[in-house]
Amino acid sequence: MNRNDDASLSALAGQYAGLNLSAPVSLDAFWMPFTANRQFRASPRLLASAEGMYYRDVEGRPILDGTAGLWCCNAGHARPRIVEAVSRQGATLDFAPHFQMGSPLPFVLAQRLKAIAPRPLDHVFFTNSGSESVDTALKIALAWHRMRGEGQRVRLIGREKAYHGVGFGGMSVGGLPNNRKWFGPGLPAVDHLRHTLDIARNAFSRGLPPHGVELAEDLERIVQLHDPSTIAAVIIEPISGSAGVILPPPGYLQRIREICDRYGILLIFDEVITGFGRVGAPFAAQRLGVVPDMMTTAKGLTSGCVPMGAVFVSERIHEAFMQGPEGAIDLFHGYTYTGHPLACAAALAALDTYEEEGLFTRALELEEYWQEGLHALRGACPHIIDIRNYGLIGAVELAPRPGAPGARGYEVLERAFRRGLLVRVTGDTVALSPPLIVERTHIDDIFSMLGEVLATIQ
Ligand code: PLP
Repeated sequence: MNRNDDASLSALAGQYAGLNLSAPVSLDAFWMPFTANRQFRASPRLLASAEGMYYRDVEGRPILDGTAGLWCCNAGHARPRIVEAVSRQGATLDFAPHFQMGSPLPFVLAQRLKAIAPRPLDHVFFTNSGSESVDTALKIALAWHRMRGEGQRVRLIGREKAYHGVGFGGMSVGGLPNNRKWFGPGLPAVDHLRHTLDIARNAFSRGLPPHGVELAEDLERIVQLHDPSTIAAVIIEPISGSAGVILPPPGYLQRIREICDRYGILLIFDEVITGFGRVGAPFAAQRLGVVPDMMTTAKGLTSGCVPMGAVFVSERIHEAFMQGPEGAIDLFHGYTYTGHPLACAAALAALDTYEEEGLFTRALELEEYWQEGLHALRGACPHIIDIRNYGLIGAVELAPRPGAPGARGYEVLERAFRRGLLVRVTGDTVALSPPLIVERTHIDDIFSMLGEVLATIQ
């Protein structure tokens, strides 16, 4: 399809969404995020429908979903139970305010979430996205210290190469240069730890990389540089996805936790990608054996069906906010759509699905099969410099083409799509994270198609 096919796009939009569109749809008005818009409009990749493990594009071709949408559709697509729950809820209570007012579902959902979260992350604040979850957690950290008489703790520590969404808080603690440099200085009083990607020492290691635990000591350096009494929180993705799948060496997160504890610094895990079964447990914190003070989530919470995020907050943090006069608002923060009934309905149905179908542990069961298939790609292309995996996450990193960083990655994305496979690309790293309902045959198909595509990359 190209831009001359606007009329057929209009017909398809009508067919799929039940709309009656008389005017042709043009691709010009929607300014797409994180996209080369002019290139896309000239040669679009349009997904028109989805079911189970597959999308279909506007020409009806099946596209095997290698990335659970954007790491979010963990239960697969168009699961009737989730869709019906949303539709029923829409007809019952479409919206309710949750400022000094309430509706039942967010309370039910928070209780359910508490039951699968690591203790003592016993309280849940709802948002609409990962970015909002991150900004919420950073604000709670600052307010918590201030409330306890430590208002000088205003410094926030992120990591190089981290992705924490696109709010000003998340951008500031994030460490991807392109996501920061256009937008001014961001928050003051932010510093960054070194990241743990070390291809020279860890290339092609399976699971957690053996080398690099000493990088946790970088936190000690930053603490001493700024004075521990000025630091509010450290935020870390236990496993980063958007930056190209960066894994923690064994013991790294434990050491970060120890250093935070020693200096009274809060530890936030950003589990927007790793939450809800991606690594074989409800949350990566559980599999990796380190409990943070707060956990930011989104994506898999509703299996991607309706936007929603959640911040899990430890008992001691929540308690501190409950000490003021009973009639006083305890946190001056929230969103119109906090606890939205449709999102809550989707999340409850997604949780039912995850639990009944054993999807929280599925990544663990399939991990070895996934790992073997992924690492077998090593010889598919001479430019592969690393392969990384954990749970149902995988990454194949290509050397950048001289003078054209990202070009090989983009070619993989484009050719994989034309071949019938959805992958995610960051620079020259190809990332995979299929829905957790994936079967071995799908895994075979993912690696067979990706292998074919990699073999064409010069
Ligand atoms: N944090 C992490 C670790 C993420 O991977 C993402 C998105 O990929 C976000 C935050 C932002 O989430 P959203 O796009 O829902 O705002």
